[in-house]
Amino acid sequence: MSEENCLFCKILNGEIPADIVYESDTAIAFRDINAKAPTHVLVIPRKHISTMNDIEVDDETVIGSLYTAAREIAAQDGIAEDGYRTVMNCNESAGQTVFHIHLHVMGGRQMAWPPG
Ligand code: AMP
Ligand code: ZN
Repeated sequence: MSEENCLFCKILNGEIPADIVYESDTAIAFRDINAKAPTHVLVIPRKHISTMNDIEVDDETVIGSLYTAAREIAAQDGIAEDGYRTVMNCNESAGQTVFHIHLHVMGGRQMAWPPG
């Protein structure tokens, strides 16, 4: 999907509203509209990257910053000590539905393993 038609680029540009909980120079995070856990936040890079397969070596700092965001969000939501999960789905078989990479940060309940 091109950047112009990307739902998450539209959230980044303020064209579509979202409950934004974190912002940095390289990433933003907002609550998932269809939360599957008490905390369910999506961390996205400001740079449009469609899938994990499209991450380049030069993106390593940006990708690292998604985890910094996850850690801070977990602390903000008070789930850091109990524990939480980060997931990035890649392509259809993994269940990716929005083609702008995003790290799911989920917690506030006991998580099952393995995921479905
Ligand atoms: P994935 O299936 O890994 O691509 O995850 C996409 C996630 O985006 C799903 O959990 C959706 O509930 C979520 N989502 C879709 N549209 C929005 C939106 N407008 N605001 C917040 N989250 C959304
Ligand atoms: Zn995008």
